[in-house]
Amino acid sequence: MRASWTPASDRSEDVPELPRPGCEHVRYGNTGGQPGHREGAAGLTTHAPQAAQSVTLPASLDEAVAALTAMPAAVPVAGGTDLMAAVNKGRLRPAGLVGLGRINEIRGWQYQDGHALLGAGLTHSRMGRPDFAALIPALAASARAAGPPQIRNAGTLGGNIATAAPTGDTLPVLAALEADLVIAGPDGATREIPVSHLLAGREMLGPAELIGFVRVPLLHAPQVFLKATGRTGPGRATASVAVVLDPARRGVRCAVGAIAPMPLRPLEAERWIASLIDWDGERGLAPEALAAFGEYVAAACIPDQEGDEQLPPAVLHLRRVVAALARRALGRALS
Ligand SMILES: Cc1cc2nc3c(=O)[nH]c(=O)nc-3n(C[C@H](O)[C@H](O)[C@H](O)COP(=O)(O)OP(=O)(O)OC[C@H]3O[C@@H](n4cnc5c(N)ncnc54)[C@H](O)[C@@H]3O)c2cc1C
Repeated sequence: MRASWTPASDRSEDVPELPRPGCEHVRYGNTGGQPGHREGAAGLTTHAPQAAQSVTLPASLDEAVAALTAMPAAVPVAGGTDLMAAVNKGRLRPAGLVGLGRINEIRGWQYQDGHALLGAGLTHSRMGRPDFAALIPALAASARAAGPPQIRNAGTLGGNIATAAPTGDTLPVLAALEADLVIAGPDGATREIPVSHLLAGREMLGPAELIGFVRVPLLHAPQVFLKATGRTGPGRATASVAVVLDPARRGVRCAVGAIAPMPLRPLEAERWIASLIDWDGERGLAPEALAAFGEYVAAACIPDQEGDEQLPPAVLHLRRVVAALARRALGRALS
């Protein structure tokens, strides 16, 4: 039998105190259900024994940061699709959880100076809808490709970024778009960092810091995300490619995901292909040029071994996959 989360307001006998105005703080642990079954956050279930002892459900980003400051051992949870999987596998035993699911300010987006300010709490399902796809097509395509529907309904943009898994589908798109993260910290402080800095480990989230928003330039030009998986149906990427056209800067930006710990940008291949495009004309390219771009991207991301040594067959196959994805993505963006 699985237990489901009961809203705190229905469980007043379990509410020991309110740590901050506006935050709901409820016990989370053995509340008398079946042995080994625990109530989970944000409607998710977990069978993990000895999981978090408390769940705080703030209503604003500031309250969430304050809750994390008050309990440094607590971890934030959005959709829980990554976090609860780690709890269930016994890889994580958070002392407390700060649920982000009730923070309305991070569940939508707004326009700001030619950019879209995307809330970290946007789910993959929401980003996959047509109105969002008209705004940032490649990000919508990556969100539609992320897992089965139940995962897309719960999983969020912020969770995808914070987990920073090599197979994170939104990550190559954000890298190609050169998106920035707006990070909320204690005492109302905010700072902005390029998403690539976080993914490369150059700048990390500090104590009690949360990804609040993602600032994405609105390029009003074609952009494509393609993903290869090792199976039919939803699956993790074995390789993915995002291609973004930036006509104002006469640029092509490309990022390759899943083949390295972080998305890779083949900068020379980007510059070379951009120089071949007639930006004021049809913008079409000969099939040979598209194929050469694919090979250039693949060789940049999966270079030859030094000396005469051949790449292993599996790696050669991966390189061919990347080449095909890059060729097709650029072809679609220019068509
Ligand atoms: C069956 C299955 C299939 C999946 N398939 C795919 C797939 O095809 N493609 C893909 O990309 N992903 C996939 N995922 C992974 C997962 O769904 C995504 O990474 C999702 O976007 C995570 O978001 P979440 O809201 O569930 O994160 P959570 O699980 O809530 O959190 C993940 C991590 O991020 C932190 N976090 C969450 N929000 C914030 C924030 N705002 N600021 C700071 N830290 C934060 C949490 O503390 C935690 O460490 C899959 C997962 C499962 C279980």
